[in-house]
Amino acid sequence: MSSEKPRYDAGAIEAARQAAWLEGGAFETPTPAEGQAGVYVKPSSPFTSGNLHMGHVRDYAIGDVYARFRRARGDAVLFGFGFDAFGLPAEMAAIEHRVPPADWVARCGERMLTQMKRLGFSFDYDRVFYSSDEEQYRWSQWLFLTLLDAGLIYRDDATVDWCDTCRTTLAALQVEDGRCWRCHDEVRLTRRPTWFLRIGPHLEENDRRLADLTDWDELSLSTQRFILGRTDGVELDLEGLDGPALTVFTPHGDSLGEARFVLLSPRHPEIERWASEPAARKQLDELRSGGWERSARDAASVPLIDTGASVAAPAGDGQLPVFVSPLVDARYGPTAVLGIPAVDEADEALGRRMPRSPGEPAAGAPRVDAGVREAKRYRAFDFSVSRQRYWGTPIPIVHCERCGAVPVPAEELPVHLPRDVEPTGEGNPLAERSDFVDAPCPRCGEPAKRETDTLDCHFDALWLWIPAAVPPQDRAEAMFTHPELKRWLPAERLVAGADSGSFVFDQRVVTKALREIGPLSFLADGEPFAGCLFHEMVLAGGRKMSKHLGNVVNPDELVERHGADTVRLAVLYAAGPAKALNWNDGALRFASRFLNNVWEYSLDRFAAVAEAPEDEEAEADTRFMRDRLRKWCDSGLARITADLEQLQMHKAVRNVTRLFERIQDYEKRVVKRRGELSREDMEALAAALVLLARVLAPLAPHLAEQLLLASGREDGPELVGPWPDRAPAPEPAAPGPVDA
Ligand SMILES: [Zn+2]
Ligand SMILES: [Zn+2]
Repeated sequence: MSSEKPRYDAGAIEAARQAAWLEGGAFETPTPAEGQAGVYVKPSSPFTSGNLHMGHVRDYAIGDVYARFRRARGDAVLFGFGFDAFGLPAEMAAIEHRVPPADWVARCGERMLTQMKRLGFSFDYDRVFYSSDEEQYRWSQWLFLTLLDAGLIYRDDATVDWCDTCRTTLAALQVEDGRCWRCHDEVRLTRRPTWFLRIGPHLEENDRRLADLTDWDELSLSTQRFILGRTDGVELDLEGLDGPALTVFTPHGDSLGEARFVLLSPRHPEIERWASEPAARKQLDELRSGGWERSARDAASVPLIDTGASVAAPAGDGQLPVFVSPLVDARYGPTAVLGIPAVDEADEALGRRMPRSPGEPAAGAPRVDAGVREAKRYRAFDFSVSRQRYWGTPIPIVHCERCGAVPVPAEELPVHLPRDVEPTGEGNPLAERSDFVDAPCPRCGEPAKRETDTLDCHFDALWLWIPAAVPPQDRAEAMFTHPELKRWLPAERLVAGADSGSFVFDQRVVTKALREIGPLSFLADGEPFAGCLFHEMVLAGGRKMSKHLGNVVNPDELVERHGADTVRLAVLYAAGPAKALNWNDGALRFASRFLNNVWEYSLDRFAAVAEAPEDEEAEADTRFMRDRLRKWCDSGLARITADLEQLQMHKAVRNVTRLFERIQDYEKRVVKRRGELSREDMEALAAALVLLARVLAPLAPHLAEQLLLASGREDGPELVGPWPDRAPAPEPAAPGPVDA
């Protein structure tokens, strides 16, 4: 064995491997062969914040390991993403730095791509896109018009914060203690027309399909269930005293006779009829203009409006007074429910605040039992998709005095967003640009005004998972019709943070809508992601990393000091995906020590093979040890393969380290028995180390590939595959006496 220890120089190795990947186009998306299913690994779409944080590193490291593993197994892999580049954070940063948001976003994206490449993430960088690109947002506009045409987008009033000084609406995160983030003056609530996405028609299916999503981890499924907010119960129709019946819901089907009042959501479809008396009407208007979406939600203080109306009680011959309260929305969505104080704590608290005494039905036979049926309600509801802001996709609508809101014809898309705007935070920049606002009505040709709201970036995200599956040169023409979409969709695996649940939920809604409308009709179950892994966030000292707390860990510094492979391995090893990762140097020290050991040990043994003495007698004597090493390799490989298939990367790391320990153990035992390793022993050791490098390759790709090259057993640039089926082949059976 050589006396000089090979030194592990992560910086040099990583630079060499990354240059080789770039030159060889190692991560270019292949066209799947006929009959071969493409494996699309979908990472989070990052905001163009300008800096990768440790949560990104965790996200992309998990996805990257999986993508590399599937490539090694011979699958056609697409590992691509785009930046979620529109939206408030970019606009606010641009205001602060006094640059057009377009420039800010370009600068931030470039910087983040450099960081990703330095970490060795195997994205197809040629497929990276920005949601703020014209080619991209043109399709956001197309989607808006398509959903509008299908009746899934509508316009309604919404309550928004307004700053009189800055003459602008404000988002929740721009309001601090009721004051404007920019001028610190008090803000007030105002009602204005807003565009909404209708999700009701697909809630039931989003719920039902969860049972089929067997490749979704529990964390991702539980976020979907939470967003649905499903309650099971019964519904029945209660006779109105002077009008049509009212359908009411309750989870307490056994206690119908104890109902004392009825509660209506302010968003109930028949609310106008039930709250028609002037006093009720006035209170309802006040509730709406007061932004009830943000009002108290506990039963002791939530707003409560008496409609003055009553319905027949479900049992006996009594009556139930009808009230309006946003508490209904918080629990069951936009519906009507029975108030049953005897069995429901919230109803009991509400009952004590009733402005009118709750009904007290006389005993008697139930009247409506025949009409009681099983039912369920979902708390999830339509959400607003437009914002009074500059940096977003322009909504392709023209407001005409004569014709109303008129969609821009598809062939006139895109409606261009002026890119030379430097927003100040005052007013509405688009409304002040006559070159943007003034447009002829597409229907009658008279002078009209463009919609100056832009789409919230949440809307862009509804389809942000699609463009990576379309070759960049074909996106302008065939974004939703490209033949390769059928090869890549649904994405085999989404890897995303646990806070992406609502994005994913709405993507599932829109996929189903586009299945029915046509473009995604090949996705029979309407699911964009066949598999899904959610991971928790990265903490420091048990707390969320934030500038304010001064506990932000900078990935660049870590990579600079320890190398990308060490940082990747540490992040993967430190915690399972379903657990928050509390960052600490322990994982880093572990990863650094392990990789150093593997590097030095492997290079040393590879160099020693040729010098090992051939000795037939010794080789026969240690044969059983080589057999055992092979078995260890086989079982280690099986475990690591299963870990990677399930994206349990922390377990994979542990099993790789265990395999390394066993390989070293083999050597120690041979030395103990014979004093040194014969040629056969050394060959077996080297073969085991090659296997180790192969299974380490998805996790620490730079080091592992460099080791494979150094092993002398790799004769080409084709390093990504194949994934070993099993340990090196056993030696042929030796001729000799056979046991009787
Ligand atoms: Zn202000
Ligand atoms: Zn018109």
